Amino acid sequence: MSEKSKAEQLREKLFMSKKNGLLSCDEAKWEKVTDFCEGYKKFLADGKIEREVVFEAIKIAEKAGFKPFDASVQYKVGDKYYVNNRDKAAAFVVVGEKTVDNGIQITAAHIDSPRIDLKPNPLYEDTDLALFKTHYYGGIRKYQWTTIPLALHGVFAKKDGSVVNVSIGEEENEPCFVITDLLPHLAQEQSKRSLGDGIRGEELNILIGSRPFKDDKGGELVKLNILAALNEKYGVTEEDFLSAELECVPAIKPRDIGFDRSLIGAYGHDDRVCAYPALMAITEIEKPSKTAIAILADKEEVGSNGNTGLNSDFLRFIVSDIAKNQGVDYTVALRNSKCLSADVNAAMDPTFKDVMEHKNAAKLNYGAVVTKYTGSGGKSNTSDASAEFIAYVRAMLDNAGIAWQTGELGRVDLGGGGTVAMYIANMGVDVVDLGVPVLCMHAPFEVVSKFDVYETYRTMYEFCK
Ligand code: MN
Ligand code: MN
Repeated sequence: MSEKSKAEQLREKLFMSKKNGLLSCDEAKWEKVTDFCEGYKKFLADGKIEREVVFEAIKIAEKAGFKPFDASVQYKVGDKYYVNNRDKAAAFVVVGEKTVDNGIQITAAHIDSPRIDLKPNPLYEDTDLALFKTHYYGGIRKYQWTTIPLALHGVFAKKDGSVVNVSIGEEENEPCFVITDLLPHLAQEQSKRSLGDGIRGEELNILIGSRPFKDDKGGELVKLNILAALNEKYGVTEEDFLSAELECVPAIKPRDIGFDRSLIGAYGHDDRVCAYPALMAITEIEKPSKTAIAILADKEEVGSNGNTGLNSDFLRFIVSDIAKNQGVDYTVALRNSKCLSADVNAAMDPTFKDVMEHKNAAKLNYGAVVTKYTGSGGKSNTSDASAEFIAYVRAMLDNAGIAWQTGELGRVDLGGGGTVAMYIANMGVDVVDLGVPVLCMHAPFEVVSKFDVYETYRTMYEFCK
């Protein structure tokens, strides 16, 4: 055996070495990875919109012993409770050994995903067809949302205070919906538009029916027939759309991708692929040294504003409740807290490598991705995590043997984006983005690696335990 040269020894000692995590993933571990991801795929299929995810998450948490928060209870170490914020966001808390003024370990993911929302007055008839007018939610490439099966999820809230749940289009025996597009033969004018302008916002109209109400005269018979069907199924009239939240999402089930089944294709990985690991981790810890909170937030895709988003006092209220319970100051708790803003980052796409700067781009199967800053235009609108906090996270990950990498949201002055990190950082908490790299992010069908999902779950567990 030949001795290693001086250069080889030095290289080993000094160079950074990040490897494809699957190279050192043996069969026993791969089994754990795939088992975990089967649970994740079910979670994705069961929760297609934020309300459904809250419902499923609470179901999972209750099985693990979580109860609704009760201000009259004196909480003690190991107690588990949750706070449901308007059925659209939730926080899960496990009380630690130390009081919260010693700091809290917070994980924060979001459970809203880009989609097509119905307008308040959506229903109309044109050319003997019934359609819905829509207003898209979040950053979508509009052309990707045409000519694919869509399902409708959400609620009608009625004047009598009752709320009717809607979920239609997911099952084989249910009807689904579609946004039409031109045939190539007649698209010559449309094809001259730029890709971003190829389908316009007001062209995202959803086809929902074509059968006229029979044996009568008068206009809008197709619309009338649709309303009659909706009235029979949900007990609603056209006016009830005014107080509805109805969201159109791809009617596509999560599927394994690749001959080797190493990837998952699904709608809504951003950010349920971080929400599920955060939820699983917090439901598995028992008596952490510090109190752990996992937040599943709404509204991230539209800037985190509103009372279910994290640019609100939602987190402050949660921390204040537990601080009050323990007789300590919640502002001290926040200032001593640490947070993983669990969100996805873009993975390098071999077909579109130019948008990345290769030394700092995340790759599939290299593990959880730590993103020091997002933002754009010279790090504007982001929380740039401190060197000290990144050092803490590095040490935690390396000590636990978790595969991880760093990432950026595209090359300088090209890409950019935001997460909940800055809103939490603005409360005085140390925060960094950490999550799963994704291909075709914000598309109706996004792709992640199973290995990266599992390493992100291990990270969440390590951070909370
Ligand atoms: Mn996200
Ligand atoms: Mn997003």
